[in-house]
Amino acid sequence: MKQFDIASIPGDGIGIEVVPQAERVLRAVADVHGGLAFQFQSFPWSCQYYIEHGVMMPDNGLEQLKPFDAIFLGAVGDPNLVPDHISLWGLLIQIRREFEQVINMRPAKRLDGIQSPLQNPKDFDLVVIRENSEGEYSTVGGRIHSKEDEVAIQNAVFTRKGTERVMRYAFEVAAKRKRFVTSATKSNGIVHSMPFWDQVFKEVSADYPAIRTESQHIDALAAFFVTRPADFDVIVASNLFGDILTDIGAAIMGSIGIAPAANINVNGNYPSMFEPVHGSAPDIVGKGLANPIGQIWTAKMMLDHFGEEELGTFLLDAIERVTRKGTITKDLGGIHSTEEVTDAIISELHTAR
Ligand code: ATP
Ligand code: MG
Repeated sequence: MKQFDIASIPGDGIGIEVVPQAERVLRAVADVHGGLAFQFQSFPWSCQYYIEHGVMMPDNGLEQLKPFDAIFLGAVGDPNLVPDHISLWGLLIQIRREFEQVINMRPAKRLDGIQSPLQNPKDFDLVVIRENSEGEYSTVGGRIHSKEDEVAIQNAVFTRKGTERVMRYAFEVAAKRKRFVTSATKSNGIVHSMPFWDQVFKEVSADYPAIRTESQHIDALAAFFVTRPADFDVIVASNLFGDILTDIGAAIMGSIGIAPAANINVNGNYPSMFEPVHGSAPDIVGKGLANPIGQIWTAKMMLDHFGEEELGTFLLDAIERVTRKGTITKDLGGIHSTEEVTDAIISELHTAR
């Protein structure tokens, strides 16, 4: 019996509603499959926890998380209780940094039964691999002079290690998909970091002769996400470019409520963290309106990460059969509750057995 130990952090708002639903789904996957078990331990770290303890998580929080195979997070943040910078830095950002989750991965895929804002999009199925630890989001720089002479300087930092790491990861992901990697660049306008990025891309691609490659300037690529998303497979991007592309990716899917994401520790020395793109959505808490698909699709990414790709596909197929039949929440134009959508997915898992 294979067992995966998962640290669940439901967090705040609808995180508390959708994480238990996704856990139910994972248990159903294990039931149907056999020979496999998921053990969940839930941690109450959240803004409510902060109100009671003055910290988002205990001092030894990271130590507690370290032994797990993965961290399964809902959403953190409740601006009415705790300012965002405290809740984010006190939990999420600490975990990402200390556990060296240097890559953010976000797929964007069209699902049957879900209306994309694009008109009649062809079936797109792409994944953005974003460098998540350096690049344009650096603290190097400053401001000098004042008044009309004032100057702000912001330096981007691209290390060879970090750049190679994200590229290799992209090629490894592509090897399991349609074997096509697009690099997001801007070497016609950014004259130091982007030519370096292009050079490393070329060097790494030489190690993967079976994988087709191309480079696209970020401005054109952003437009192509809207005009022809079906032409892409894996896109590798720097921190800033990836940030922008992943938001477009979530938008063309049709609702932020279905978009999944993962923060990956590449070396395997610490757990990776899986969290949907959406936040705590305080406006819909307690009404049964939260779309559970983002969290459940995120669970699918966790299965892939565990090397259980077949089960991951099995789960995503069940999700799509449910959306196709119109068992969807209000954000997608449906009338069904969080629990009804989850029940429908579990029932599809059992039917497909
Ligand atoms: P954060 O700062 O944590 O990102 P936010 O309020 O900026 O939070 P979201 O929480 O993602 O952003 O909410 C944005 C909008 O999308 C809200 O109107 C919310 O109700 C809606 N929304 C987000 N997630 C879902 C979901 N799973 N199901 C339905 N609607 C959702
Ligand atoms: Mg917000």
